[in-house]
Amino acid sequence: MFKSFFVLSLSLFMCFSYAGTTTVSGIGEYDNNNVFAKILAKKIPATIIFENKHVLAFEDIHPIKPVHILIIPKGKYRSLIDFSNNATEIEITALIRAMGKIADIMGITQSGFSMITNSGHHGGQTVPHLHFHLLGGEPVHWETALRDKKTTK
Ligand code: AMP
Repeated sequence: MFKSFFVLSLSLFMCFSYAGTTTVSGIGEYDNNNVFAKILAKKIPATIIFENKHVLAFEDIHPIKPVHILIIPKGKYRSLIDFSNNATEIEITALIRAMGKIADIMGITQSGFSMITNSGHHGGQTVPHLHFHLLGGEPVHWETALRDKKTTK
């Protein structure tokens, strides 16, 4: 009886958590009020791991792995498709170079990691500023990790 109640409660919690996650389009006009724009403007705090002229990296507020860092360009790009179409060569190079450095800073170069970006509704993107999830510190199994992310918010 108690077990059934527990399982039902957990299922409902997971359903509502999932329903509460609003995905966003990866295209269209940039939203200056998105949460990462506020972090870039230092209007809200974040635990910053790395910063240079073009890139910022900080801890995800709801980590799903021992290492869960978000890596973002400082430019106003909504998603990977926006960045791919519109970023300068310098910005693109800076982002890719920073990814390697940040994996190194986090000490996961040897053990390995996943670098994931979600784009638009089917990708499950929830913040409309391009970001890469750097996941590691233990085996990632990214499909499960993403499903868990959607059910723990
Ligand atoms: P996505 O669903 O791929 O768009 O990922 C957005 C990520 O941003 C989620 O993993 C959130 O946990 C994370 N996030 C949202 N708000 C903040 C915040 N204020 N600081 C750090 N991470 C955040």
